[in-house]
Amino acid sequence: MIKILKRTIMLFVLADNFLTNLARKIFKTRWVLTGKCRQCGSCCREIYLKMTPGQLRSELFTKLSVRWLSWLFGFKLIRIDRENHYLIFSCEHLTADNKCGNYFWRPNVCRNYPLVDYFKEPGFLPGCGFKAVIRGTHQR
Ligand code: SF4
Ligand code: SF4
Repeated sequence: MIKILKRTIMLFVLADNFLTNLARKIFKTRWVLTGKCRQCGSCCREIYLKMTPGQLRSELFTKLSVRWLSWLFGFKLIRIDRENHYLIFSCEHLTADNKCGNYFWRPNVCRNYPLVDYFKEPGFLPGCGFKAVIRGTHQR
């Protein structure tokens, strides 16, 4: 029953991701990704979720967010970066060989990593196989 509930919620999450990425295809970002995943697993060992300062100031909101993300995605809180406003998680679905044990149902933060933002240059974890270049300047 719980599993069906989670899957149903995930269908809405995936639909949201589909529409967001559709919009990205129409309204292009300045930066594009080049390179490829080296399957190092770093982005599954440290998952950075951005919060607003106001959200982090509220203990209740922070606790509810952590509980929700743990329940729905299998994320486990590692620490809170209050200076830069991030909740930082690990994931119970990461396998010993750096594969995703929940690939089909993985959350949007995983599907969209490394995130290409409209307003700032993308950032990468150390050792990531991707990098960002300005659209139109990269060679395939
Ligand atoms: S950090 Fe980059 S190279 Fe490593 S698993 Fe994530 S996307 Fe792949
Ligand atoms: S759900 Fe899969 S891709 Fe996402 S953090 Fe966990 S192991 Fe990595």
